[in-house]
Amino acid sequence: PRPIELLEKSIKDTKPEREEIQVGESVVHWFKRDLRTFDNKGLRLASEKAKSKNVPLICMFIVSPQDYEAHFTSPARVDFDLRTLEVLKSDLQEKNIPLHTVTIDKRNDVPGHVLEVCGKWGAKHIFCNIEYEVDELRRETKLLKKCLEKGIDFQPVHDDVVVPPGNLASGAGKQYSVYSPWLKAWIKHLHEHPDMLDAAEPPHQNPETAKTKFKDIFEKPIPTAPPSKAIKDAEYKQRLGNIWPAGEHEAQDRLERFTKEKIKNYASSRNLPAANSTSLLSVHLSAGTLAARTAVRAARDSNSSRKLDAGSAGHGTWISEVAWRDFYKHVLANWPYICMFKPFKYEYSDIEWEYNDEHFQRWCEGKTGFPIVDAAMRQCLYMGYIHNRCRMIVASFLAKDLLLDWRLGEKHFMENLIDGDFASNNGGWGFSASTGVDPQPYFRIFNPLLQSEKFDKEGEYIRKWVPELAGMEGNAIHDPYGRGKGKEAEKAGYPKPIVDHKTARARALERYKGGLRRS
Ligand code: FAD
Repeated sequence: PRPIELLEKSIKDTKPEREEIQVGESVVHWFKRDLRTFDNKGLRLASEKAKSKNVPLICMFIVSPQDYEAHFTSPARVDFDLRTLEVLKSDLQEKNIPLHTVTIDKRNDVPGHVLEVCGKWGAKHIFCNIEYEVDELRRETKLLKKCLEKGIDFQPVHDDVVVPPGNLASGAGKQYSVYSPWLKAWIKHLHEHPDMLDAAEPPHQNPETAKTKFKDIFEKPIPTAPPSKAIKDAEYKQRLGNIWPAGEHEAQDRLERFTKEKIKNYASSRNLPAANSTSLLSVHLSAGTLAARTAVRAARDSNSSRKLDAGSAGHGTWISEVAWRDFYKHVLANWPYICMFKPFKYEYSDIEWEYNDEHFQRWCEGKTGFPIVDAAMRQCLYMGYIHNRCRMIVASFLAKDLLLDWRLGEKHFMENLIDGDFASNNGGWGFSASTGVDPQPYFRIFNPLLQSEKFDKEGEYIRKWVPELAGMEGNAIHDPYGRGKGKEAEKAGYPKPIVDHKTARARALERYKGGLRRS
């Protein structure tokens, strides 16, 4: 059985026993990647349980450096989470709800800490929202059993996705591995179960007594970033803070502005990296300062037809993009081996990759001599974010033109993106490298020059991120050493292309074809 099935089975099998457990002296909600008070199912359930007996609700968040290491979490993201915790702590405090935060060095000690503090607080009910990565699912399954041995009811619930995995099966009763039919099923499911989009109310005000009883928790500051994940460069830290204000209020404001001002033109402009036409909500969806459910509901409600499907131009298209996020989480839950650095498609396990450190470094630093690639990679280093079209371009370039193992790129993204999310990142890399679910066939290889001309026609995006080329006129900006004859680029210190696309394409085709496993 898959880890998600084992967890769900444990939840189901232990239900009668757990239902017998009386409310203790407090109820706990364990925050993970759901750092918000609004529309949070686990938190809502915890709040209702606490209210039923008028006992305090206590929230907790555990900073786990080893978990960060295991997921290659970027310092930018750790910083965002910690800034968000400040907002969350103060919001909860207004309702007399304490937020216990702590750093636990060894990830194996996390469950022990949960049990220890719940014992100390006399909590008999703990709620959390489910994360779909393998280690997390296994941890929760074990914790559920341990809790029960101690007479504690631990309830992990589905909240991170709009439709929980396992609800959408193809005609053959299997999980879809292709997005389009999956999307149809996803929309149909939501039309049949519109309540799935209903919002969970924020938590209740808690007894006044909590204020004095948990004074030490209220007064304890939020932990600092573990040394391995601390941002050393003060200017970078400040910049991230300015570009990506943290917390759920910012997420709500951004969502509101997007659905009022930009969503109607999303379908026609979403592929243009210079257009600033996407929502920039990925960090919020990834950290859980915004629920995907809230995002879909807002898009539906801002559309006069109140439809979810793509027929309704911008609104429908945006909803179908948010749905990609659900799709990749379903893929992760159903094919957990993708968490183990394995390609989704077994037949792509044996491709002979190049081992060229210099090429990899040049790709990471945005010095490949391909302006659109360099612009995107520099955007990543500057702001921890890359436009989706450019993520596809740079991923294809790494795996096909440079023929470097796509997992190097996947890791680099996690280590640098502020919105790093295993399922979406792995899905995007698998798609671009043709090794994943619903892949492009391996022989479809992006031509960086054509992509650049089509999606950054005036070179605006390139000019912004590659200042050496800012003065270059006309079409030469896409190809400074070909059309541009190179003089100006050379003078400005812009590098020559590190590969010839035509030759690299032929090499990739040969290697991919030759590396295909037949059985
Ligand atoms: P919008 O266009 O406004 O879309 C709204 C939301 O829908 C996004 O915030 C995101 O949550 C979701 N979404 C949109 N497109 C996709 C997609 N293709 N796959 C999954 N979800 C999507 N997204 C991440 O959140 N984290 C990642 O680590 C990540 N890595 C990626 C790696 C590669 C190689 C590729 C090709 C894509 C990756 N994406 C990732 C998906 C996508 O690029 C970003 O979600 C998007 O660029 C975020 O910008 P936005 O919020 O303005 O998106």
